[in-house]
Amino acid sequence: MSRIKSSNLGYPRIGENREWKKALEAFWAGKLEEADFLKRMEQIRLSHLQKQKDHGIDLIPVGDFTFYDHMLDMAVMFGLVPKRFRHEGGEVPLHIYFSMARGNQTAVACEMTKWFNTNYHYIVPEYEGVQPTLTENKPLKAYREAKEKLGIQGKPVIVGPYTFIKLSKGYERAQLPAFILQLMPLYVQILQELEQEGVEWIQFDEPVLVTSISKEEMETVAYIYRQLHEAAPQLRIMLQTYFDYAEWYPELIDLPVQGIGLDFAYGLEKNLEYIKMYGFPADKVLGVGLVDGRNVWRSDLPKKSELIREITGYVSPDRIWLQPSCSLLHVPVSVKHETYLEPEIKNALAFADEKLDEIAALVKGFNHGFHTVSERLDNSRAALRQLAQSPVRNRAEVHRSVENLQTHHLQRNLPFEERRKKQQDVLKLPLLPTTTIGSFPQTSEVRQARRKWRKGEWTGERYDEFIRKQIKNWIHIQEEIGLDVLVHGEFERTDMVEFFGEKLGGFAFTQNGWVQSYGSRCVRPPIIYGDVEFLEPMSVKESVFAQSLTEKPVKGMITGPVTILNWSFVRDDLPRQQVAWQIALALRKEVEALEASGIKMIQVDEPALREGLPLKKSSRKEYLDWAVKAFRLTTSSVKDTTQIHTHMCYCEFHDFIDSISRLDADVISIETSRSHGELVSAFTDYDYDKGIGLGVYDIHSPRIPSADEIIAIIERGLQVLEPELFWVNPDCGLKTRGVEETVASLKNMVKATQIVRNRL
Ligand code: GLN
Ligand code: ZN
Repeated sequence: MSRIKSSNLGYPRIGENREWKKALEAFWAGKLEEADFLKRMEQIRLSHLQKQKDHGIDLIPVGDFTFYDHMLDMAVMFGLVPKRFRHEGGEVPLHIYFSMARGNQTAVACEMTKWFNTNYHYIVPEYEGVQPTLTENKPLKAYREAKEKLGIQGKPVIVGPYTFIKLSKGYERAQLPAFILQLMPLYVQILQELEQEGVEWIQFDEPVLVTSISKEEMETVAYIYRQLHEAAPQLRIMLQTYFDYAEWYPELIDLPVQGIGLDFAYGLEKNLEYIKMYGFPADKVLGVGLVDGRNVWRSDLPKKSELIREITGYVSPDRIWLQPSCSLLHVPVSVKHETYLEPEIKNALAFADEKLDEIAALVKGFNHGFHTVSERLDNSRAALRQLAQSPVRNRAEVHRSVENLQTHHLQRNLPFEERRKKQQDVLKLPLLPTTTIGSFPQTSEVRQARRKWRKGEWTGERYDEFIRKQIKNWIHIQEEIGLDVLVHGEFERTDMVEFFGEKLGGFAFTQNGWVQSYGSRCVRPPIIYGDVEFLEPMSVKESVFAQSLTEKPVKGMITGPVTILNWSFVRDDLPRQQVAWQIALALRKEVEALEASGIKMIQVDEPALREGLPLKKSSRKEYLDWAVKAFRLTTSSVKDTTQIHTHMCYCEFHDFIDSISRLDADVISIETSRSHGELVSAFTDYDYDKGIGLGVYDIHSPRIPSADEIIAIIERGLQVLEPELFWVNPDCGLKTRGVEETVASLKNMVKATQIVRNRL
């Protein structure tokens, strides 16, 4: 009989109770000896493998576990240790490994950036032109361990050469072929040793293949895999794509590999279309990424079983692996720890372990008849139906408002040039107004107060009083420093998305729904499960109090709709833009409430707008259009005299500056201090004609910038930007900084501004 198999692509490292994070941090703090640390890591690693086995997974990934990040593991395996870490060659010791991730006294950490369009950050490998060397065979080690300790014949996972190279930095385009040629023998050696060991399958992750790559690039990929196949013909390669579909499907399935993994969650339509149009080679295995690996919802199993049947019309079942759409790294570990969630929400959720169960059930159903799992199938559908029919998903008002959106809801009353004069009449700001991005240091005192209030040790009044005291103190400090536009300081917020999510209708929060963001840092994204609704003002109290203490304008401060969306797990029964607009409509009420209470400037932060950009260039316009619409919906109902600010903290604007301009914000503050010239040129090349606040110092470091260096940055900006449109501010919020350095840095910023002003 022809049977399908179950497979997994990667499992969360953090552990059910974040044991992994705790071990790492204890080790870094010197509270855990290296040997004990390694022992603990081994236990965690093995228990995760055992768990996947117990869940009935046939092809269990090994080598996806890491002490920090899988890209860093690859870099270290290839000996790509930047010179500044003074590695002598050979196997890379733990302290160097962690220095690359976190920096040390003498060397700054390697850059960290987002893994495709997820919230996971990887360490960017640096190629310094030196021939890489194989310092260890990590996949082989992982394979042996699983086999010897657990009797598991694992499927080693590594990042494929093309993705690895494309995500690395430090080389010019012209050096790419040389870099590839230098890496190939290392990959070959890994494969040959695995082949010798009798390994059956290896998974090569090549998510770069789902981005917009050229035909020439695809030819390079073909070259790479031909070489690999020839070098280790007995070893079978599963070439794994995820997060979308690959445009070069005919070329992809033609590669000399023995399996191709496709994403049937995020690339479903296209991948199905391609399989129907071009077929699938009879001598290859198809990895069917059917269960959504990066969202938290339970699968509609009857629907998935239909899909399997459909796919088996084109691919023989014994050549199918059923698997998640991507590594389960991007979802929390298990729903079973959630005890507070409403049953209708909890029943509709599936985290990593539950997703493995779904895969096992579908495989069993297909192989032994779906009647054997009919109860599972029915339950999944019933749970989803129950949530679908729940009143929270069907707030008629909200749906009506989104449907009735019209262009005038998205348009400020006057164009920027005209409203700007009116705003200036009211605000009377000096040239080069100085301000900050919103948050001030969240000292341990602030965090402790919040804990006491959350635990019920403090009443709401006591906590509010404490917050008012902080605000008062910092209004005073800001006046002393001489800033022109003040903020209340965001002391009442732990996280800029959680704070608003907790106050809006339609959001749920987990107790243990942690996912890894970078290194040991985990986040617990809110879950948007229902129609989003404004319930009551969320930020008015604090802003109004701050404004009551000063003659200077206080900026209201809220998180924008696209950032709230991109940093949450979002319901998947509605298009994302619908959810974005629901959030925008709710925030519009917040903006109106701030304005009605006398706030004259409102900042709507969108630091996550950029990371929502689709991987395919062809889909970007659509995303940007609805994202811009969401921002304008949030902000455009205010009076001409109310000034709208926005903030984004990254430095690549070139590819979407036009959309930034279409936000129609009166002022945008951006991160610039680390990438100065390049960024400003994005704005001047475009002829950006609204207010710009240049980040004049890096807030990621405790270093206090001198007035002179700030002057240099301002003057460089003034060479290309109109002084009337120019604002001065730090790169981002100051919540992670200490009080003293913050005050000293801001004083220098104000001093620098005054000096430049006097020269104008
Ligand atoms: N207003 C926020 C703050 O200052 C902005 C944070 C951000 O850009 N990530 O903390
Ligand atoms: Zn920022």
